[in-house]
Amino acid sequence: MALDPGARRAILDACEALREQSVAQLARLVACPSTLGNEHAALDEMARNYEALGLKPVRVPTDPERLKDHPGFSPPIIPYAGRDNVVAVHRPRAAKGRSLVLQGHVDVVPEGAADEWTTPPFEPAIRAGRMFGRGAGDMKAGIVGYLTAFRALREAGLQPAAEVQMQSVIEEECTGNGALACMLALPRCDAALIPEPGPGFPAVYSAEVGVVWAQVTVTGRPAHVREKQAGVNAIEAAMTIWQRFSAYETEMNRAEHIHAAFRGLNHPVNVNLGTFEGGEWNSSVATRAVMGLRVGVMLGNTADRVRADIERIVAEARQDPALKGAKIGVAFQGFHADPCAFDMSAPIVQLAMREYAGATGGEMRTYPATGLTDGRFFQLYQGTPVAIFGPGAEAIHGIDESVEIEAMHGITRTIALTMAEWCGVERA
Ligand SMILES: [Zn+2]
Repeated sequence: MALDPGARRAILDACEALREQSVAQLARLVACPSTLGNEHAALDEMARNYEALGLKPVRVPTDPERLKDHPGFSPPIIPYAGRDNVVAVHRPRAAKGRSLVLQGHVDVVPEGAADEWTTPPFEPAIRAGRMFGRGAGDMKAGIVGYLTAFRALREAGLQPAAEVQMQSVIEEECTGNGALACMLALPRCDAALIPEPGPGFPAVYSAEVGVVWAQVTVTGRPAHVREKQAGVNAIEAAMTIWQRFSAYETEMNRAEHIHAAFRGLNHPVNVNLGTFEGGEWNSSVATRAVMGLRVGVMLGNTADRVRADIERIVAEARQDPALKGAKIGVAFQGFHADPCAFDMSAPIVQLAMREYAGATGGEMRTYPATGLTDGRFFQLYQGTPVAIFGPGAEAIHGIDESVEIEAMHGITRTIALTMAEWCGVERA
């Protein structure tokens, strides 16, 4: 049953009235430096946000023992104690509509060179209509969008007439195990909505690549630099091995390896040398170097096959005469994530696109992402249609990350109307 025009008006008015408070809420979340292992303050903040909506926050542990046989599980990087995800569930008086998951990750990637930021990464600042700070765009503004949307229904004297699950998860940026744990801990819903930032224009994710993380460790043969020829320099050896991964990246971006959903995109399969540690002393031949790699997985390919490719590249490097005397190891911690296509004809996606047009006057396009989201869990392992779209952000994972505040309000209105239409409403 369609939402009556009076209710729509009341919801939009409530969104309008909540603008200032949602900006303050975003600033509080961005001020939580929720990098890997430091998510507790952001999780506590989310628990308070859920309480403020009249919902009871529940902690959901990420337990590798329980998850390890699931195909979506990724090898953990650090222990999970003290970092439990937090969820809250709204239950209607009478369930009449369709249930909905509102999901967002609280973790953020490291700030990088903090001295390059115009203002400190975890001191949110507003300039020219944008909020700057690590995580402002990816994806704390989206989280505030769904919180405000739910609040707006309440302020309008309404609430969803179906179960609405809110899930605040960790490790979207390195494993996805937080999302997996929460999805499995709660009953399946009729749809999921994840307000991740878009690609710079309003868009719904139509597909995403998979990702495999690998750590390649090279142990050389140490020597005093006077007898440099007698040693094997681990750093130089690592650079040679990196050339092999670089060649693999070129190969994987050849047209015949690109899925139709990604055609027309420049270089969709990215292999990134993200971290490098090596060497001990300027005047010693380096004994050890460790490379942290992120290898993209094209739609049609699988994380298992890419992992096998990585093992093969390392095995071939071991046979390289130029690297004789070097020991080369590979370990897999972090993402083991399959690529995923999302159903653009799904009613939740169609509804969100319609509501976005009505709420903002703009139009969402569809777009295949060369990065990944937690959306794959719902789509691949639960068959739950998922709509992934969020406010326009800039420099996510970069310096001076920011989100457009007006875009956040637009997404708030979109989520509020989408939720009200999807779930139906009842008197609060
Ligand atoms: Zn994100």
